[in-house]
Amino acid sequence: MTVQTTRTHDADVDYLIIGAGVCGLYQLHQLLELGVSVRVVDSNAGLGGTWYNNRYPGCRFDSESYTYQYSFSQELLDEWDWKERFAPQPETLSYLEFVADKFDLRRHITFNASVQAAEWLEDDLLWLVTLAGGEQVRARFVLCAMGLLSVPTYPRVEGRGTFRGVETHTFDWPEDLDVTGKRVAVIGTGASGVQVITDVADKVASLTVLQRDANWCAPLGNQEIDAEEMARLRASYDEIFAWCRDTPAGFVHRPDRVLSTDVTREERLAHWNDLYDNGHGAALYMGNYRDTMMEAGPNKELSEFVADRIRQRVKDPEVAELLIPKDHGFGNKRVAGESGFYEVFNQDNVELVDLMAHPIQAVTETGVRLDLGNGETRDIELDVIVYATGFDAVTGPFDRIDFRGVDGVRLKDRWADGPETCVGVQATGFPNLFMLVGPQSGSATANFPRGIEDVVNWMTDTVRHMEAEGIVRFEGRRDAELAWVEHVREINGLLLLAHSKSWFNGHNINLDRDDKPRVMVYLGGAPRYRRRLQEEIDQGYPSFELRTADEVAAAKAGAGV
Ligand code: NAP
Repeated sequence: MTVQTTRTHDADVDYLIIGAGVCGLYQLHQLLELGVSVRVVDSNAGLGGTWYNNRYPGCRFDSESYTYQYSFSQELLDEWDWKERFAPQPETLSYLEFVADKFDLRRHITFNASVQAAEWLEDDLLWLVTLAGGEQVRARFVLCAMGLLSVPTYPRVEGRGTFRGVETHTFDWPEDLDVTGKRVAVIGTGASGVQVITDVADKVASLTVLQRDANWCAPLGNQEIDAEEMARLRASYDEIFAWCRDTPAGFVHRPDRVLSTDVTREERLAHWNDLYDNGHGAALYMGNYRDTMMEAGPNKELSEFVADRIRQRVKDPEVAELLIPKDHGFGNKRVAGESGFYEVFNQDNVELVDLMAHPIQAVTETGVRLDLGNGETRDIELDVIVYATGFDAVTGPFDRIDFRGVDGVRLKDRWADGPETCVGVQATGFPNLFMLVGPQSGSATANFPRGIEDVVNWMTDTVRHMEAEGIVRFEGRRDAELAWVEHVREINGLLLLAHSKSWFNGHNINLDRDDKPRVMVYLGGAPRYRRRLQEEIDQGYPSFELRTADEVAAAKAGAGV
């Protein structure tokens, strides 16, 4: 169905989407279907967002592939075959390119177009968006789909940039970088580090893993999908999507209603051994007894179980202890999916360095210098340094753009002490600016395509409404914003995940800001978030102020403007 647009302004485009990743592409498709004028800008040279950037060896997702795809087109579902249960990056990027070609999306996307600034022009009811290079675009509405993890961060150590070999972040892995036979260091053991370490360990001459805190991992259980399995999966797509719609994180896994204390220790251990050994992907943390992710006691017992499994897999007991997290329990941070990660540390060419005992003093021209204490140092000679050191997550992509809203207020300043949003889709003072993937949104913590479908569908319904009703100004109400932040804080607090030092709570030692926890994500679950968004539509958007051109004019006249 197409809509009649209310183009009352001097706009170049009605809807400008920032980002051509999983979210931006789907939003583009939906708005084209509506028939409104829409353009996408992306700083990369190609589409795919995360899947365009993260080309490091071993990169793959830990959502089951058949749940990490769009559900909107039966034809698309019929035409695309997944090759692996957890697809690697090239397969996912090919999928997104296939989608773009099938629906003829590319001609609406401008690549190499990095948004530098966006200024709200109250008199014109437009956003003036400035791209690197100087081009300016006047858009009625701006829809942000810049991703959660698109601003990489690096350690703030002396000498970075002076190294004569290759330095790269996992996010920026050069396409022509082959580490075979090289002396390589990987800094960081989050989900990216775990994947790249596992992939390159048996190809490189030497691998030095430089670790601060250890991170919990769960065996991924990847396998190929043959034609027969693919046919079986395709026949079940309706049920799979319906099931994922009902689970908190949009995965095939759902927390068990049974509590760990409802069963005997023997039963618990048998269940955990099964989850660990038999290829259940993320079920060890997403499908476990409900209390293991909410209560300290059950979580401790589960953590001890996983720690024992690590001890069984790593030959050197000291190395095993270093690989067992001591600062948080299992699942209290994002668990990394692994496929042979622990066995890597049994190889002769691999060394694990404990940065808590021996921090990096400097990056030198030839490698990395460790501080051994008492004035002693150790130089590690290297050819390649890989920074798997994470991201300025969630708000970083917003901070990078100079957004200026009503009265010239900067979004970055507004969020200096942590983000505040109206139902995860807007910030008050920033009319007509929508966040499809941003802080405190349910899209951010779900299996990504499942999560963004909810927000994009809401946005599309909202665009239909705005166009039908002649709405030219749409802004969150401050009281609703305060209520949402409080709700998110409260509901997140029920999960142990909200109490750890990870990007979920705004922690990143590489950023120049205080380390107090921030309400970055919404952990109330996708179904609850979807219902909350739907309530806005059903009840006439009570959390937002919607105005037609006449209402804007009347308000200005009333205010004597
Ligand atoms: P991350 O989880 O933030 O991990 C960063 C790692 O770098 C941590 O081990 C951290 O140690 C270390 N680090 C940070 N700064 C350091 C410094 N200055 N010196 C030494 N070590 C430092 O980042 P990530 O691994 O890129 O993962 C981010 C997110 O991306 C994941 O949580 C996940 O959501 C997503 N991801 C998903 C997949 C998948 O689906 N399979 C794969 C990769 C990434 P500390 O913890 O001690 O700070």
